Amino acid sequence: MMHNYLTPNFSFAPMLPARAAGSRVWDVEGKEYLDLSGGIAVNALGHCHPDLVEVLHTQAQTLWHISNLYTSLPAQELAGKLVRHTFADKVFFANSGAEANEAALKLARKHARDHFGAEKNEIVACIDSFHGRTLFTVSVGGQPKYSQDFAPLPQGIRHVPFNDIAALEAAVNENTCAVIIEPIQGESGVLPAQKEYLQAARQLCDRFQAALIFDEVQTGMGRTGKLFTYQHHDVAPDILSSAKALGCGIPIGAMLCTEAFAASFTPGSHGSTFGGNPLACAVGSRAFDIINHPDTLDNTLRQGAALQAALSDLGKESGVFSAVRGVGLLIGCVLAEPYHGRVGELVKAALQEQLMLLQAGSNVLRFAPSLLLNDEDRAEGIVRLRRAIARFQAA
Ligand SMILES: *Cc1c(COP(=O)(O)O)cnc(C)c1O
Repeated sequence: MMHNYLTPNFSFAPMLPARAAGSRVWDVEGKEYLDLSGGIAVNALGHCHPDLVEVLHTQAQTLWHISNLYTSLPAQELAGKLVRHTFADKVFFANSGAEANEAALKLARKHARDHFGAEKNEIVACIDSFHGRTLFTVSVGGQPKYSQDFAPLPQGIRHVPFNDIAALEAAVNENTCAVIIEPIQGESGVLPAQKEYLQAARQLCDRFQAALIFDEVQTGMGRTGKLFTYQHHDVAPDILSSAKALGCGIPIGAMLCTEAFAASFTPGSHGSTFGGNPLACAVGSRAFDIINHPDTLDNTLRQGAALQAALSDLGKESGVFSAVRGVGLLIGCVLAEPYHGRVGELVKAALQEQLMLLQAGSNVLRFAPSLLLNDEDRAEGIVRLRRAIARFQAA
């Protein structure tokens, strides 16, 4: 391939994407690929959706950036939609998931300090969670491999096993300012939180006056067939982070919160140069309308169920998967014991069969395709995956 001028923290795949439409991607040589990875759960409406291209084009000729000395119609429009369709009263715009979580964690600390004093600063997070790559978010994320080389780390963070109510009860106390949970752990293996776990977290946070934060960066914006995954469980957080699919590929993140928490973000207490810029918000606002439409949410559930069924069949036929799990179009196939640690090879084999997939942890093959996935692309994905599995098993 060409010379790589970028820092070596990424291992790029051996193909160079040049253009894309819907669930298809073409490389610089014109070879076509089927994309069931969705740019890592970002391209929720597929690539280059015509309505998003249109709004991007229109906004580009209107107003790109104006700074946070001013607000704008697109920012207020998108924030209003997020507020009207969720638990939230207020929105802070950022540019990524890590930044949305950074805002959420800072807000929880400040709110606790404002109301209860400096002692109340502890954050309880889950082992194997993922919240982003800033120093604070890698420290809160329960994966030492992402934080240990950057010590000294921020203090006042406790980690507990995911889905373990007793461990959560033992960790949360009057010094807890926040509990942060992914309703489905995405990066570490597409592991859904149990409803009872989320309910217990809600009760503990109420009892100790701590903020319940849901990180819905990966699970939000229609991915699981509801606007946000917490809406499947009737357990509302105080603070929620969104990004990835929020802009469908245009960088934008958002922190949503209740009025009571928002009040602690007093003028000047937090900020962002690009957050809430009209270009990203205009695209996000149009994407919101399409994602939050019953047709899209129904398609997500229907295609998700059909894809899970086909993957289960493929698992039985090949013996490669021991379980298939997930909700809507966030799906993980757990590799059977003999294949443990080899999911990277399976992703590579899939790419050789012109199929773009993801790994999650070391044993899970992850799917996060367009929410507009159609029957033809889904069926073609299974055909290509069957060939990839044969290639993988022959290796
Ligand atoms: C991707 C992800 C993040 C980080 O988002 P960035 O935009 O990469 O900063 C945070 N939390 C979860 C759950 C994610 O999946």
